[in-house]
Amino acid sequence: MIEQRQFYINGEWVNPVEAKDHQVIDPSTEEPCAVISLGGQADVDKAVAAAKAAFPGWMNTPKDQRIALVEKLLEVYKRRGAEMGEAISVEMGAPIDMASTQQVGAGTWHISNFLKAAKEFDFVRPLGDHAPNDRIIYEPVGVAALITPWNWPMNQVTLKVVAAAIAGCTMVLKPSEESPLDSMLFAEFMDEAGFPKGVFNLVNGDGVGVGTALTGHKDVDMVSFTGSTRAGIAISKNAADTVKRVHLELGGKGANIVFADADDKAVKRGVLHMMNNTGQSCNAPSRMLVQKGAYDQAVETAAEVASKVTVGNAHESGRHIGPVVNEAQWNKIQGLIQKGIDEGARLVAGGLGRPDGLNKGFYVRPTVFADVSNDMTIAREEIFGPVLTMIPFDDEEDAIAIANDTDYGLTNYIQTQDGSKANRVARQLRSGMVEINGQSRGAGAPFGGMKQSGNGREGGVWGIEDFLEVKSVAGWTNDAEPAE
Ligand code: NAD
Repeated sequence: MIEQRQFYINGEWVNPVEAKDHQVIDPSTEEPCAVISLGGQADVDKAVAAAKAAFPGWMNTPKDQRIALVEKLLEVYKRRGAEMGEAISVEMGAPIDMASTQQVGAGTWHISNFLKAAKEFDFVRPLGDHAPNDRIIYEPVGVAALITPWNWPMNQVTLKVVAAAIAGCTMVLKPSEESPLDSMLFAEFMDEAGFPKGVFNLVNGDGVGVGTALTGHKDVDMVSFTGSTRAGIAISKNAADTVKRVHLELGGKGANIVFADADDKAVKRGVLHMMNNTGQSCNAPSRMLVQKGAYDQAVETAAEVASKVTVGNAHESGRHIGPVVNEAQWNKIQGLIQKGIDEGARLVAGGLGRPDGLNKGFYVRPTVFADVSNDMTIAREEIFGPVLTMIPFDDEEDAIAIANDTDYGLTNYIQTQDGSKANRVARQLRSGMVEINGQSRGAGAPFGGMKQSGNGREGGVWGIEDFLEVKSVAGWTNDAEPAE
């Protein structure tokens, strides 16, 4: 059993001000795998004070030096990737092979993309030829509170920490209490990379405790949050009294529009994408809309593909999917599957209970519901498990209307071999991201949502800009430019 009760504050591992043990549960076995501490207001005060004290120095550290530290971080991150894969797998249940490749790889990808964006980023820019003595200066917001979820932990942590560091912000990270081990390992990486003390701090805790203390703290200038819409609303309200900037990356209920002229693999691709990470992705294509005519065949294919998805222990090597993160999620998913049945959706794969042979661990059967209407609970709520809903549609207009009829707006997907139709539909979908025919977004593309999926943009140039203020200076002396 791992015992790691300390927090990383001002460049050192320190004891919590008040002991408050918290067990981290391995979802594959339901047994505790680690003990950490949950912090409180006093720990947050210490971490925020360290970040505040470090801010002037870090803000004025030349861009090249900040980049050099991130390059060192990338080297450490790659070298210790295997440890990271194990930490993620044990605490949140991603199977070890998937955790070591996709989960860890997401971090490598983001750090590399930020480095490229940072090198090309001009922190001081002219306004235009019409105003030769005006400068637009991009300046760090200040002390940032970074609050992350458990589902793609290194994805979220690198998106926030590295962008904040490149922008010149100092920070306090509060990872999810479900997945603190990977973030503590990441804190070791930051330490090994040699970031100045106080630039990066980590305090473990839950939302009610450390989360609330951070988002209401007078010396925190901005909050970057990824998690549920419920928590995003609470955070926005709590941050309002001190007029913080709040960036939110929240839930989703993505539509995957499969037109009758889609390629042969479109349905299979959609089902496997849904099941990846055991359905625990904010951008999961969880509503598959299929054009009538192709619908019956699509339901048959989806049921067959889902029934072949194997489920198993995250510690075992293989291409199976793991358990869901915890008992509360398992219960919530079971409740929603029951609701789907009660509201009249047609269950064509999976269903209630654990998969055969798995009696312990938070395992869910890969499930597909057909004949779902968009007003059913399973079409409206984010299930966050391996559950796909299938909805028939008539034509392009109908598909767009159903896809947009949701509180969320994170990622939508389009499958058709008609390029002009795909482009037309992509323009009409109210979401921060659209992916066509299985094409994933390129390096440095912005990640984020509209509507109740949030308001931030992470990754690449946009991710750095999220942590910057724009300052307008008039009367600039041109021959005395300072270094960036
Ligand atoms: P969650 O909202 O329960 O928790 C996320 C984080 O917020 C945790 O660190 C938690 O401790 C903290 N928190 C909870 N309540 C808080 C409060 N009142 N004040 C401050 N902090 C608080 O979400 P989760 O269950 O960890 O993660 C799953 C959710 O995250 C899903 O809804 C998913 O869609 C969303 N998500 C979104 C994105 C995105 O980029 N849009 C990415 C991944 C996950």
